[in-house]
Amino acid sequence: MTDTYTVINLNDLTSNAEALTEKYSEYGTFIGIVKGDAYGHGYEAVNALQKGGVNYFAVSSLEEAEEIRRFNTSASLLCLEPVSIKRIDEAAELKLTLAIPDLDYLNSFLSCDNKHPFKLHIQIDSGFNRLGFKDKDEVKKAADLIEGSIHSLEGVYQHYATAGVFDPYYDAQTKRFKELISLLDLSKIPLIHLGSGIALMAHPKTDIATATRMGLVMYGYNIAPESYGSGLKNKLRTARDKHFQKKYNLSEVIRDVEIDLKPAMSMKTRIIQIKDVKAGEHIGYLAAYTAEEDMKIAVLPVGYNNGIGHKDNGRVVEIKGKLYPVVGEIGMNMMCVKIDESIGYDDEVTLLGGKITLGMFSRFSGLGLAEVLLGIGKNNKRYYVEE
Ligand SMILES: *Cc1c(COP(=O)(O)O)cnc(C)c1O
Repeated sequence: MTDTYTVINLNDLTSNAEALTEKYSEYGTFIGIVKGDAYGHGYEAVNALQKGGVNYFAVSSLEEAEEIRRFNTSASLLCLEPVSIKRIDEAAELKLTLAIPDLDYLNSFLSCDNKHPFKLHIQIDSGFNRLGFKDKDEVKKAADLIEGSIHSLEGVYQHYATAGVFDPYYDAQTKRFKELISLLDLSKIPLIHLGSGIALMAHPKTDIATATRMGLVMYGYNIAPESYGSGLKNKLRTARDKHFQKKYNLSEVIRDVEIDLKPAMSMKTRIIQIKDVKAGEHIGYLAAYTAEEDMKIAVLPVGYNNGIGHKDNGRVVEIKGKLYPVVGEIGMNMMCVKIDESIGYDDEVTLLGGKITLGMFSRFSGLGLAEVLLGIGKNNKRYYVEE
């Protein structure tokens, strides 16, 4: 076992998939987003999620799809970014579903000489201004072109730019999506999907949706918004939200979603040196930290080379169920924590997991939630457990 590593619990992934597909069973199809090496969990995750009921997957590139096919040859797999027309043969080989972002792409695709009948999803730009159609006549034209080809129009979708926890833009995007697909015969299109995990959890199902896409939530994080709690200040905030909701006629926001999701990834390391530091001595680069009292520190073989970032905004690690603070700067490969007499060389150190939530890790590092998982998942050896 390497000194610093991540542990991925495959049973947790299966259990999360079960919990989500059961709770949101009004959707028939669950598209698991496994781009970015399955958010740093590795493509072993695909089979574990499939076991729990995720019945479609999506990646962002051919290379990712290739990796997945090493573990799973049959799962339905959508590539969210347009595959280079030059590489359509590879996409056919990988049995990919293709996303169609505009008419130009569709025309080049239809005129290439590949004879494989593809499943296609038309991508709608409902306000992100990234990929997708922005004109309803073009959307209709695309659907007609596909209908007259050897390919089939399996899906139509958009992606939200905002989470819609009291921002009017969320509803505007849903409305725009409906407008842009209004000339299509939706009864002929099996998969109509909007949004992401937060849209799934924080809002009621959009009437026309038949499928949903989930990323972060599947890996075990309940990202649903929380209530403000009690107290006068919070009552005022709640009242302000109600007012805002009424004024802009916003759709309902669902808070405090109860669902048993288990973070599947944890990160551990070991202690490589324990030493005494006297009051007044400095620790680490730039002598940035000065010991205020005599103390014991442990040196850990983990730094920004392990994808944790270099910031340590109040970072703590967990050893034997207790939290210990980082002292000094985080280096490329090492950092120090202030410990006590109870800690020895054999004690395992947890950087993520146990008492240390992804939210805490994100605040320590200044990295986003998914960014943390990607950073530590990709930069450390991963061990898979099923327990
Ligand atoms: C990444 C991505 C998702 C998943 O988002 P989460 O916030 O992790 O649930 C969904 N849809 C598309 C198009 C994406 O690119």
